[in-house]
Amino acid sequence: MSSFGSNLKIIPRSAWIIAFACYAGVAIFIHFLVSSDTGPHGSAHWPLAGQLALNFLAPVAPLVAVLLCGYIYGEAKRRGTRYGKELGVIPLTARIIALAVYVGLAILIHFLILHDTNPGGTATWPLAGRLAFNFLIPVMPLIVILLYGYIYGDAKRRGMRYVMWTLLAIFVPYVIGILLYFILRDPLPSDCPNCHSPVLAKFAFCPSCGTAARPSCPQCGKSIERGWVNCGYCGTKVPTHL
Ligand SMILES: [Zn+2]
Ligand SMILES: [Zn+2]
Repeated sequence: MSSFGSNLKIIPRSAWIIAFACYAGVAIFIHFLVSSDTGPHGSAHWPLAGQLALNFLAPVAPLVAVLLCGYIYGEAKRRGTRYGKELGVIPLTARIIALAVYVGLAILIHFLILHDTNPGGTATWPLAGRLAFNFLIPVMPLIVILLYGYIYGDAKRRGMRYVMWTLLAIFVPYVIGILLYFILRDPLPSDCPNCHSPVLAKFAFCPSCGTAARPSCPQCGKSIERGWVNCGYCGTKVPTHL
């Protein structure tokens, strides 16, 4: 677990710009929907606090989702991994589900628009507005499902409890579970200097060939960090050459 503030710095500037553009776009769109939702139980009759909360809190989810995509990009780049290869950790099942949800929602919204023929209803909007509504709204669930898939694959390669983390990301509401994963996840395994198989950050030796992955205490054998004068586990003085 590293400092969250320093992690924010690896998000590329373009991701910040896209994220805030999404926030502003969704906020304006919701404002427009709320003010035209004047039916008997419409959101235009809600108390002002409710309208403001819907208007300014709902767009936080797309903002966070776009920033997380930028974070995954920046983090892969720092490690010298291409973004396409990094997205390879998303299981095929998650890609198929994400695509199916996108297509299903787009078709559903298409039919909702066709039937919304009241004055001011979506059927009376200009074509560009209808197309944007129809194809942009399902992008959010698409991205969120791909993030669930990414968490599954990423937690697995980090030696974490990947099923538990994926369920946590899904069921802790409103992208908070997804955010928690990225704040609390374990470091990536390192490469064994001898046989190049992945060695989890908590291991002192490569499980495949037994090579020391990092210095270990000569007394208790636990992995120690460079610069320690005494072993943090058993207190033995650490030889300076380690
Ligand atoms: Zn090895
Ligand atoms: Zn020790």
